[in-house]
Amino acid sequence: ARLVGPDADGDERAYEAALRPKTLDELIGQERVREQLSLVLTAAKGRGRTPDHVLLSGPPGLGKTTLAMIIASEMGTSLRLTSGPAIQHAGDLAAILSGINEGDVLFVDEIHRMSRPAEELLYMAMEDFRVDVVIGKGPGATAIPLQIPTFTLVGATTRAGLLPGPLRDRFGFTAQLEYYESAELHRIVDRSAALLGVDVTRDGGMEIASRSRGTPRIANRLLRRVRDYAEVRGDGTVDLDVAHRALELYEVDRIGLDRLDRSVLEALCRHFGGGPVGISTLAVAVAEERETVEEVAEPFLVRRGFLARTPRGRIATAAAWEHLGLRPPEGSGP
Ligand code: ADP
Repeated sequence: ARLVGPDADGDERAYEAALRPKTLDELIGQERVREQLSLVLTAAKGRGRTPDHVLLSGPPGLGKTTLAMIIASEMGTSLRLTSGPAIQHAGDLAAILSGINEGDVLFVDEIHRMSRPAEELLYMAMEDFRVDVVIGKGPGATAIPLQIPTFTLVGATTRAGLLPGPLRDRFGFTAQLEYYESAELHRIVDRSAALLGVDVTRDGGMEIASRSRGTPRIANRLLRRVRDYAEVRGDGTVDLDVAHRALELYEVDRIGLDRLDRSVLEALCRHFGGGPVGISTLAVAVAEERETVEEVAEPFLVRRGFLARTPRGRIATAAAWEHLGLRPPEGSGP
């Protein structure tokens, strides 16, 4: 697993669960979403109704699952968790829906990856709180309508645009989660450190925050690695020096690039004069699969403004040359 990767790996889940904010007040950052959601939930409570369906969009690790859990706990109901890839047949979804209780929150992660038939079943469930259960096969099959309790669907997706219009339209409230500022990540690191009983100095916390790529999941993960280092090689305190040395050991640089990111940038600048170069050629130069370069390294390099995709291939920007401490050749750059 990659230290600065956005997805959680299996053994990380218990650690993450312990660090999850439990209420909207405990949540750090995302001010606007927090305020909007607070209104939606308070109004629903006042009316004694189940809140509208909520769509959360944004990259992994920014708090979508956490928000779904908060919605359930703020409403005093229980949460059911599932994901798009787990719902391949309409029957899978019908089974889940027939097991929910009045007012429950159903969280569907990666909702854009649900199968088409399941999606159609979901439309009806979201709108009329009803599902058609099909009995039998072929011409003899009959659909039996089944009333289900009212529930709140919380869907999560990396981009709202990936959802078909009719599904998107059935959400009463949509929130777009943004990457976090360093100061917010710093507060997240401090909060997590307090929960874990780790002593973190101001500088030490800031150092972890600034290498976390705007992502709370990564901040918490780096804290975990730095804590190990502090306990084994130091006196347990995470100060600037410890954070520095630990993250150097793990090859996460001062803005959160890891070895793969840097080798892509280095190849682009040193071997190809800053491009343009085709992605396959670039992948060969760093001895990686094309998909790895394209899906793992490239998104963050593009987001940071180090690499640009052009019709003629990838090019390094002036910021990339500068980050590597290299001088761009005369007349290069976009
Ligand atoms: P997603 O579902 O978007 O992939 P998660 O909700 O699983 O992200 O969050 C990943 C980790 O980051 C969790 O451990 C969670 O505690 C932490 N986290 C996310 N957002 C926040 C936040 N706003 N404040 C504090 N911790 C957060």
